[in-house]
Amino acid sequence: MEFYLKALLKTNTDPAPARDAVAAILADAEKTILTKGAPEGEGAKIRSWELDEKAIIVEITSGRYVRAHDAVMRIKKPLAEKLGKDYRIGIRGIEAEKFTIRIEADHDLKNKNIPYVRSVDYADGMLTLDLEMGEAEMRNQVPDRILNLLEDKLKQGDYGAKAEHWNLLWESEDREFKYGEDPTEEMLKRGWLRRAAGRGQWVHGPQTTKLFRTFEQIVVDEIIRPLGINEMIFPKMVMWDVWKHSGHAKGVYPEIYYVCAPKTRDPDYWEDVIDYYKVTHEVPTALIKDKITEPIGGMCYAQCPPSWTYFEGRTIATESLPIKIFDRSGTSHRYESGGIHGIERVDEFHRMEIVWMGTPDQVVEFADKLHERYMHIFNEILDLKWRKAWVTPWFMAQEGLVGLSAEQRVGTTDYEAPLPYRGPDGEWLEFQNLSINGDKYPNGFNVKSQSGEPLWSGCSGVGLERWTATFLSQYGLDMENWPEEFRKRFGEMPETIRFL
Ligand code: ATP
Ligand code: ZN
Ligand code: MG
Repeated sequence: MEFYLKALLKTNTDPAPARDAVAAILADAEKTILTKGAPEGEGAKIRSWELDEKAIIVEITSGRYVRAHDAVMRIKKPLAEKLGKDYRIGIRGIEAEKFTIRIEADHDLKNKNIPYVRSVDYADGMLTLDLEMGEAEMRNQVPDRILNLLEDKLKQGDYGAKAEHWNLLWESEDREFKYGEDPTEEMLKRGWLRRAAGRGQWVHGPQTTKLFRTFEQIVVDEIIRPLGINEMIFPKMVMWDVWKHSGHAKGVYPEIYYVCAPKTRDPDYWEDVIDYYKVTHEVPTALIKDKITEPIGGMCYAQCPPSWTYFEGRTIATESLPIKIFDRSGTSHRYESGGIHGIERVDEFHRMEIVWMGTPDQVVEFADKLHERYMHIFNEILDLKWRKAWVTPWFMAQEGLVGLSAEQRVGTTDYEAPLPYRGPDGEWLEFQNLSINGDKYPNGFNVKSQSGEPLWSGCSGVGLERWTATFLSQYGLDMENWPEEFRKRFGEMPETIRFL
């Protein structure tokens, strides 16, 4: 990995009289300021330098430490001081005549359209990026962000964008299933639900709605109340600012539904749209597109990010920790594209999400309590076949999961269940998850604890469609086959609405 920078330190007058002073400072720099903080021999190097009438021109190379753009800032300071004081020569600014990053790679980049990057070349196992850098960009660490981006892309390329490290934590005993149909098909036949107008969207009839509400009530009775979790209402239109802080702005784009506002609510502005519709009975979407803003954000994707706005920039009193809250105030939306199936993979879904925060120990302890309560629900009440797995993006995976410290518990546990209609080798469905997110959200939203101890958080999303799909796939739609404990809580099946 190499940074190469040919920089012009621009002077307000011919720097020639200061040639010897420049030579002395640059010779000294390699031994002092350009190695400070770097391991032995890993500092930045000055490859050459020269003067013209308006600039000191320096060629710098570096590796990972004291990167070339930092190096040039470090030498600007003593040069400006010396030349100003002794020669009345001012340094006005820095310009990068050439700035390249070279990094080993086993493939080219798919997207070469990266901000501040003029060109990307791949040859002989090396990627070379030619950057267009001003002084402000160099000061603001843009080259470092470009390097991070490159390293992320290369790692992702190695493992595939969504590839996950999967590690079984627990699995229930094997059993035989008496039911083997796709429950969505069966529910449609019985009129429990109908497809809605949108893709991956359903109108839930009284039966599926009652199932959702029963599951929700089980969570309230078995988890929310015993663990003292308070209900809050999290926003469901999520602005970019929230996703910038939560990290979702780094990648959520292919899966969100975008939100735009009207450019104005002046009815006159909209009159042509209204008239067009009245005459043609077609909604003029192309015309509307010109009359709305650029997207201001998206529909709720994961539930917890917008809740952090409540805590943003604040210090939480020790007596309030651990904080335990949950939200069930609205739908989540994802563009699932070709993946939509039945009620289990939809573009509009219903989820309860529990969020907790506290010291690392408090967060891990609460996660363990939740895991234990979930285990009770899935084994004693719903009597499911299911398993728990530790999932981490491959490139973050760590080996060995026993006797873990709090730090090593940061990550996600997926809860998965087989859907018998998919056959014995069918993919298992993730019906919920539980994550210990470490300091990611408190850092992202600048939230601190009164004691000054690290503040951590966790979240767990209970997908009601996924619980329903799992339960009905394993037990079918006939109540007499349902586990007694669940039937008790469900009560009577609502009457079916009849059509002629
Ligand atoms: P999958 O790999 O099955 O798409 P995911 O990893 O995208 O799941 P998460 O981002 O972890 O899911 O979302 C948390 C929870 O939200 C899931 O466990 C599930 O209960 C629910 N969920 C996510 N996407 C959908 C969807 N399209 N339809 C219904 N529920 C969903
Ligand atoms: Zn969350
Ligand atoms: Mg998904």
